Amino acid sequence: MKHNIKALEQRVVAALEDETNQGHPLHEVLEALWQYNQDQWSRMEHLIRVSDSYQDMMIQREKTLSERFDKHLRQLDKITRISDRYQTALREANLELEQASYVDALTGLPNRRKMLRRLKAEFDMRPESVRLAMIDIDYFKRINDEFGHLIGDDVLVSVGNLIELTVGELGHISRWGGEEFLVIFSQPDQAEVEACLKQLANTIRETHFESGDHAKIRTTISIGVSHYQAGDSADTLITRADDALYRAKNRGRNQVVFG
Ligand code: GH3
Ligand code: MG
Ligand code: MG
Repeated sequence: MKHNIKALEQRVVAALEDETNQGHPLHEVLEALWQYNQDQWSRMEHLIRVSDSYQDMMIQREKTLSERFDKHLRQLDKITRISDRYQTALREANLELEQASYVDALTGLPNRRKMLRRLKAEFDMRPESVRLAMIDIDYFKRINDEFGHLIGDDVLVSVGNLIELTVGELGHISRWGGEEFLVIFSQPDQAEVEACLKQLANTIRETHFESGDHAKIRTTISIGVSHYQAGDSADTLITRADDALYRAKNRGRNQVVFG
């Protein structure tokens, strides 16, 4: 068909160029038709060119948009990874801070905050088994006065270690404050607690604490013990242990008093 049109066009051009056809009444009509045909072709070519460049433009635009989208995705991915790492670091830092907030800096033992939480938990689970031992170093001020505060610190840490070692699995020890320690026993057997605390008092009395050049620092402890009674709260139990400790001090120190 295309070939036929080409041949037809050649025939039209030849007919128009043929001198013998000049002046023929159809010559002018054929020439006008030929011109019209040429115009149509150039218009169509123009439309094709416009359509092609429009398509090119759209493809280019799509490419640019998709590149931009990919770039944003990559940025988002990076930000998400950074944010994940940041959140993990933050969580770890929070955990460390939380753990640190429960530990006494000098002795490394659980602090009063931690102990109050544990006491509350014990109270919720088995209040009737809870016994508290408030332990205070006797005449500790004298150790500070005689050997200095740093050596006092060492003795404090050693006493804490000895309490922890002696109490072992029987209870939970904490540094309550200053030179006082609090032990929670979840132990229904009074005799076992009594034996443990008496042994503790003996151990401290017989220990020669060492610090720096001082190899023979001696001290004793007083202990007040309270046992859960119906209606007790953590506060009343602590107060009774404190009262028992006060009596142990008044009775000459270096002893265990049960409240
Ligand atoms: P008592 O037998 O009546 O308990 O006499 P004490 O001297 O132990 O009692 P007091 O409460 O008068 O003194 C306690 C001392 O413990 C006073 C304080 O300077 C000392 N102390 C408290 N915390 C620390 C500490 O972290 N390090 C040192 N080195 N001393 C401390
Ligand atoms: Mg003391
Ligand atoms: Mg004290």
